[in-house]
Amino acid sequence: MVQNSTIAENIDHVRETIATACARAGRSEDDVRLVAVSKKKPVSDVLAAVAAGVYDFGENRVEEALTKIPQVEQQVERMPTWHMIGHIQSRKARDVVSLFTHVHSLDSLKLAKRLSGLAEQENKTLNVLLEVNISGEAGKYGFEAFDWDKSSQVHDALWQDIRQVMALPALNIIGLMTMAPFVDDAEEARPVFAGLAGLRDALAESLAVSLPHLSMGMTNDYPVAIEEGATMVRVGTAIFGARTV
Ligand SMILES: *Cc1c(COP(=O)(O)O)cnc(C)c1O
Repeated sequence: MVQNSTIAENIDHVRETIATACARAGRSEDDVRLVAVSKKKPVSDVLAAVAAGVYDFGENRVEEALTKIPQVEQQVERMPTWHMIGHIQSRKARDVVSLFTHVHSLDSLKLAKRLSGLAEQENKTLNVLLEVNISGEAGKYGFEAFDWDKSSQVHDALWQDIRQVMALPALNIIGLMTMAPFVDDAEEARPVFAGLAGLRDALAESLAVSLPHLSMGMTNDYPVAIEEGATMVRVGTAIFGARTV
């Protein structure tokens, strides 16, 4: 656990870094939402972040969220927004619908159908971002999008899947999410971020939908992601310190 003052200081620093990156890119800092990734961190750390004015939290495991979210909500006046950012197993989908309002990790048509069905039963609409694998890394979750602009096969399969997701009644598709490869130099991730923005523009135009959000950028690379158009950055370590478990 990180001392509360440190969490507040870290958040200040991240906010300043966001502002600087926005200024470099000629963007308004109001257009970038900081999602504090609190996975593996205790309730007390989340409360410290709330005290510092953060109301968006990212979690990646349902079991952890099941205990953490109610505990946090008992102790705050204004409810935070909870963002699911990790891969979702089918049997955990029901819990996701009851715990989260935002899902960044919608990574297959099958999962989309399941979440929509469950959300419908609960009279909810889930805000979702389509996770895409744009870097082509093997073993990565997400809709296959590597070379979508060069391969008509990839393009057509992706478009077909996304059209079907869009037709689902209880999902509000607000944008795209990606995980850049782990690299030492954040500049190496830049083409991946630019690629996600390019894919978003192409989808929005050809499907005549607005996809306002790009969830991209983590501790190591969020300034670069912001320069390339990120509207949501998912930052854990820079706020809460390293995760030991
Ligand atoms: C853990 C995680 C993050 C945050 O990573 P940091 O490097 O600690 O900022 C962001 N996005 C996803 C999907 C994660 O799993």
